[in-house]
Amino acid sequence: MKKTIRDYDLKDKKVIIRVDYNVPIKNNKVVDDNRIVASLKTINYALDNGAKVILMSHLGRVKTEEDKKNTLKPVATALSKLLKKDVLFIPYTRGEQLEKSINDMKSKDIILMENTRFEDLNGNLESGNDKNLGKYWASLGDIFINDAFATSHRNHASNVGIASNIPSGIGFLIEKELEQVKQIIDKPDRPFTVILGGAKVSDKIGVIDNLVEKADYILIGGAMAYTFLKSSGINIGKSLLDTDSIDYCKKMLKNHSDKIILPIDSVNAKSLDSKTSRSCFINEIKDDEMGLDIGYNTVKLFRSYLIESKTILWNGPVGYFENELFEEGTKGLCKILKNIDAKKIIGGGDTHSAIKKLGYEDAVTFISTGGGATLKLLEGKNMDGIDIIDEK
Ligand code: AMP
Repeated sequence: MKKTIRDYDLKDKKVIIRVDYNVPIKNNKVVDDNRIVASLKTINYALDNGAKVILMSHLGRVKTEEDKKNTLKPVATALSKLLKKDVLFIPYTRGEQLEKSINDMKSKDIILMENTRFEDLNGNLESGNDKNLGKYWASLGDIFINDAFATSHRNHASNVGIASNIPSGIGFLIEKELEQVKQIIDKPDRPFTVILGGAKVSDKIGVIDNLVEKADYILIGGAMAYTFLKSSGINIGKSLLDTDSIDYCKKMLKNHSDKIILPIDSVNAKSLDSKTSRSCFINEIKDDEMGLDIGYNTVKLFRSYLIESKTILWNGPVGYFENELFEEGTKGLCKILKNIDAKKIIGGGDTHSAIKKLGYEDAVTFISTGGGATLKLLEGKNMDGIDIIDEK
């Protein structure tokens, strides 16, 4: 078990919290403050316990001088409003002003340092986890708390680098991610059903390999279903095909035919932005059509597995939901989830966008906040930014 922020006496300590403030900004204003709101619990806990809070985050990529427009200054303004408290923004990632401001801090003060990736301009120091940079940032604090889940699969100076040098723990956000996502994979109430969708099989091979061992059923939709269907000899017309994954799909279908459930009907069109669609049984897709959603009968078939399940994990929309004509499958599954009593976890960015667009966010138990990080967790792979954290 990893140490958490609760395992430390924070009073008068300089606590570096790695947060995820990679938020959209327009005209110097934060346009979506979800990630800032999500960080408040850990920050408030640290402040309530008398810490001096030093926040670090990245914002976008910084590869050229021009990318220095990715400043965290607007985030300091938004955070200050949410906390109803002054947040001192330091427009540097090192140096005298940063060090002096930190030394002058009193208990319950809060500082936000400039975008950690500004250090990438000096030779990828942040993203390459430069040892000296990690050591330097660590020297600014007494305790390090990692609460940036979305980058916790990365080996960067602002997570692994700092944690290698001072006592460390995880914050409430990462703790909840691990509790909700990792624990259901390790010890799910059964039956445990996984819904997998999205574009390419190759992006999800690690997830399928890990979950096929742990889940009772894997319901496959989205574009990736058509690669599975093609590999079992079905004509998929112009549907998205991941040619390199055909052999993999054949192998999976051969070895796990009892677990992998494929669509039995399909909603098709001639293009993604089509204004018309045609539904058919899965073996009736025409040569000039693309399969863009699971059909009504597939939703019914998937329902028969879902209503029996005690744990459901969903990664990837089952249709091209960006066009309303092809959102019915994803919406149908949302409606089913809303009405069943099970632990329902949504993993990954696109699935979240889909259920948000369709208005079903409260139909589920937990929505994971990571993209690549959530996939790593589902693959059962190492998470560098979490593995480095001190054990209890
Ligand atoms: P991923 O990031 O791999 O989860 O892929 C999500 C994307 O796959 C979303 O933009 C979906 O609209 C898209 N998608 C889902 N089903 C299909 C489909 N049948 N054909 C084309 N794109 C799809």
